[in-house]
Formats: sequence, C-alpha cells, structure tokens
Amino acid sequence: MCLALCSEGRVSFLCTESRVDKQECLTYLSVRECAVMLTGRKLGQFRRRLSSWFREFQRDLPWRKTRDPYRIWISEIMLQQTRVAAVIPYYERFLERFPNLRALAEAPQDEVLRLWSGLGYYSRARNLQSAAQQIVEKHGGEFPRREEAVLSLPGIGSYTAAAILSIAFGLRKAVLDGNVARVLARLGAIRGDLRKQKRWRTLQTTAEKLLDPKSPGEWNQAMMELGATVCTPRAPQCLLCPVAKFCRARQLGNPESFPAKSNKKAAVEITLAAAILTDSGSRTLLLPPPQRGKKRPDVHDVATLVSGMWHFPTVAIRKNPTAELKAYLAELLQSKGDLPQLEPLAKVRHAVTYRNIEVLPFRLAVAKIPRIDGSKKIPLEDLSALPISNLTRKIALAAMQTPTPPTEKRASLFFRPSC
Ligand code: SF4
Repeated sequence: MCLALCSEGRVSFLCTESRVDKQECLTYLSVRECAVMLTGRKLGQFRRRLSSWFREFQRDLPWRKTRDPYRIWISEIMLQQTRVAAVIPYYERFLERFPNLRALAEAPQDEVLRLWSGLGYYSRARNLQSAAQQIVEKHGGEFPRREEAVLSLPGIGSYTAAAILSIAFGLRKAVLDGNVARVLARLGAIRGDLRKQKRWRTLQTTAEKLLDPKSPGEWNQAMMELGATVCTPRAPQCLLCPVAKFCRARQLGNPESFPAKSNKKAAVEITLAAAILTDSGSRTLLLPPPQRGKKRPDVHDVATLVSGMWHFPTVAIRKNPTAELKAYLAELLQSKGDLPQLEPLAKVRHAVTYRNIEVLPFRLAVAKIPRIDGSKKIPLEDLSALPISNLTRKIALAAMQTPTPPTEKRASLFFRPSC
C-alpha cells in the first residue's frame, strides 16, 4: 500500500493494490498525473506492443516513405488543422512544383499561395516559404539538425521540430500534440484541461519517458497514429488498442470522458456581402491581396476573412446588405451614376475556427469590367489560377451555379474605362 499526493499537492490517495510497486501502479500514477507511467519490464512491453502494432497497421501515407527533412516538414505543416485525406493531393502537387527547399525559397509567393489555395490557414504557407528562405541564407539550404536552429524558424514550434528531427535524423525528442496528449491522458486517467501549462509540461515529460530511444521517429509516429486512428476523441476503439492493458481510463470504464472537454470560445457570427461583377465574356473583377495593417484586426476584418488573398469586392455588413454593399462599391469604383441592379445569388456559409461567416453574394451584370489599380479581370472558371481562399472559391461557385443574364440587360456606362 502506498500513500500518494497528486502533482498539485491537493489530493492524498491510498493505493490498495498492495501487490505492485508504486512506480508501476497505474492508479498511483494517475493520481500523480502521469509524471512517471511505466518503468522496467512494463515499459519495454508497452513499447514493443505499440511499435509492432504500428509496423503492421500504419496507414500508407506518402510522407512515410521518406527521411528527407524537407518533405517531412511540408507534411507536418500541411497536417496542422487539416485532415490526412485532404492533405495528400496538396502534398503531392506542392512537391511536384517545389521538389526541394531551394525551389520553394525562390518561388514567387503568389505561386506558393496558389498551390496552397484550398488548404486554409495561409499563414502556414507564408511561414513555410520564409523559413525556406532563412534556411538558404543561414544554413546553405540544408535543413538544420539542431533543435534551437529549427525552433527559430517561422511557423515551427516544439511539436513540429520534434516530429521533423526525430523522423529525419533520429533525434530523441518526443512529440506532444493534441492526439498524443489525449492518449497520454487516457493512459493515466488524467482529468482537467490538458493545455494548462503545468499539465502540458507533465505530459511532455511523460512522453519523453515513454519514447523508444532506439527508434524515436518511428515511436513518435506510432503514438500519433494511435491517437489518430484508434484512441480517437469521441469513440476510442479500446478493443483494437495495442496498449489497452496499460490504460487506466479503460479500466475505469469511461475512456471517452478523458480528458475533460475544454471550454470552446463562443462562435462569432459574421455577415459579408460580395459583388461579382460579370461582363458578357463571364469575366469578373478580382481585387488583389489586401494590405494588412499592423494593428490586430477585429473579427469583421475583410482582409483576414479572405485570408489576405485575391478576392471579390467584399464588405462586412452591419445592418442592410444591399445599401452597405452599394455604398462600398460606389466608393471603390468611384461611380458617378447609379449602380446596376444587384442580383442576389445563393448564400454561402463558411466556418473558420470560432467564426461562422455568411456571405451574401450579388451579381452585377456589366458591359465592361472597371479598371481598379492592381485588380484583375479574369474568367470566373479560371479563378484557381490565382491564390484565392476557400471562401472566395465558394462565392465563385455560387456565381457559376446561377446562369448569367443576357447581355442586353447589362449596365454599361457608370464605370470608368475597362482595364
Ligand atoms: S485503451 Fe482505449 S482509451 Fe486507452 S489508450 Fe487504448 S484506445 Fe485509448
């Protein structure tokens, strides 16, 4: 029997499993928040079980066929906040166009964004390219092997650095992301918000202790794979789990209740109105990537909502969509006369993190696309030649699904000359 205190010093606990040494007692360990989970023979068994399961059942993914740090890096960045199935075609296209780090560093940013277009979270692509440029400048184009050097690159945090360095170079560094943290929390029956600094640090220590020093890259992938395919958030498949016998949450009978749900930020509802100016050749007006100010933008900031990419003339709506869109267009186009009629198209809905965006697209049939500095006149179906966000893509789709009115109905004279 042993008496234990939790790592926060609040809970005392009497372990009744008198057979086991306290270092191996899962109940004891859960109270200690997983500070040390398994040692000796049990640790070896745990590693063997997980590793052989991974070798047999891992998914066949393109980035698992390489030890090239550049390719692993691209996959890790693309996989942030994005499902594996969605990433695969992007990963392959991206590497076909930018087969190595120098090719990425030297490419025009527009081209990088265009190939990222549709994956979302575009700051990832911008950071990727700027990190590639830094690697060329400071490391002669060779991906650095030192952890501090990798962590100093834009867009790379401790999880990504550990993943790249362990898989590509065998560095003994454990990864800890949401999937791995969930697995650890269930193994140790840890309650509470895992993202709390102290708890996250404890989890990192636990992950380091479990890491198999003989094959850290494979080990890290095995832990991530377990979290992604078996120990899933809502319905863990404990019957298929290679390490079920070590799992405290399973012993308690309610693994899905670990860890505690974090309090989600309340969703913000945003309404936008977008203008799709269309001429008789189905060409439309697209505005260039907006300049972003230094100040932190508010939730209605259009530049942020279009991901800083090419976009339709768009305005955030407070009360009256048509009046506010007309006022915005009158200023944008410096129109002297009346605007043509706004033809409402099917509404578009788009969700990004905590923002629920509703876009009211309006078509304006015009004789000529007006000239605006930096803008482009482009056929609707060719929009993907430019870097555009998913939001813009959805608006374009709404326009393409509604037939264009006949030419004679087009307004002709209120705009300045065509570009
Ligand atoms: S036994 Fe179940 S809850 Fe525990 S690690 Fe395996 S899948 Fe997750």
